[in-house]
Amino acid sequence: MTETAQPRRARAEIDLGALRANVRTLRARIAPHVRIMAVVKADAYGHGAVRCARAALDAGADWLGTATPHEALALRAAGIVDVPVMCWLWTPGDPWDQGIEAGLDMSVSGLWALEEVVAAARATGGTARIQLKADTGLGRNGCQPADWPELVDRALAAEAEGLVKVTGLWSHFACADEPHHPSIAAQLDVFRSMIDHAEKAGIDPEVRHIANSPATLTLPEAHFDLVRPGIAMYGVSPSPELGTSADLGLRPVMSLKASVALVKRVPAGHGVSYGHHYVTGTDTTLGLVPLGYADGVPRHASGRGPVLIDGHRRTVAGRVAMDQFVVDLDGLTPEPGTEAVLFGPGDEGEPTAEDWAVAADTIAYEIVTRIGARVPRVYLGG
Ligand SMILES: *Cc1c(COP(=O)(O)O)cnc(C)c1O
Repeated sequence: MTETAQPRRARAEIDLGALRANVRTLRARIAPHVRIMAVVKADAYGHGAVRCARAALDAGADWLGTATPHEALALRAAGIVDVPVMCWLWTPGDPWDQGIEAGLDMSVSGLWALEEVVAAARATGGTARIQLKADTGLGRNGCQPADWPELVDRALAAEAEGLVKVTGLWSHFACADEPHHPSIAAQLDVFRSMIDHAEKAGIDPEVRHIANSPATLTLPEAHFDLVRPGIAMYGVSPSPELGTSADLGLRPVMSLKASVALVKRVPAGHGVSYGHHYVTGTDTTLGLVPLGYADGVPRHASGRGPVLIDGHRRTVAGRVAMDQFVVDLDGLTPEPGTEAVLFGPGDEGEPTAEDWAVAADTIAYEIVTRIGARVPRVYLGG
């Protein structure tokens, strides 16, 4: 499957200038000594990991972060070699040896991971850069406070043998997107005491960090040595409670566009798309948009998703199908090939990813991240 440089069916335009501006905006909101880890997991939330990583570094990001080791190794393979790259979602049997050779910062949440990374260090003869992850209350990955002393002691023993270097102590928030949620202060207290324990025991980390985008934007006391923004860098608000991206001074990076594939008149009373969940109320015009749930347009937005066509907002009529959906154009008669904008920055009246999140009863993270591989990314401002 190849599509030309000007893909006709659909495209996700990625505005790298906006991404760089967002990194600078975040930089201006943190103290000068605080470093930025640009989070580019999940193909940079659907925006393209390598292009976005390079743009973020150009704009002053200091570190890169991914979930899986494979994502981190792909950045190295693309030639991003002189920058620290951290990855945090390890599964037993993952390639710790390659991580050591690639100089990755590898997160360790428990003893099984420490044992695997130590074995890989012995086998390769290298020293593994590891970061110990504390579960300060999220209840997901990370080491519980009760198990922390043993993990710290074992890491120190491996450090004494030259097998690992503990480069970081870190954690992750559960509710940073809900300002004043009581868990925020509680997690910070636990994090400080787990850092304190590790440092008193002899760990001397390069970085301590806990802040995701919402904490970067709203919680200076959570910035420590480094912040890990993801969604904010892509110009999307972490949650409606924090305001829109415009309120936050951020510019959406992705615009999702398609070409209207068919326009036709239909009589009143005509069923539209699978299940006939929409029936035309009057004689009207229908437009066919060649994007569907295989492309990441959420089926949950059936009957609700907003689209801009010829300067007018229209709504998905009936079910989103795998490859296409229909809008009731309500009498508009655009030429086939006219641009349909599902979301973008909003400048021309087009919806935003945040609007689609409301329509699909989800978060805007999911809207941009799930845009599928069948949609070509077209880079602007490169
Ligand atoms: C995804 C992720 C981030 C970035 O979160 P945003 O809310 O997108 O800023 C930071 N840290 C970890 C551990 C993550 O998994």
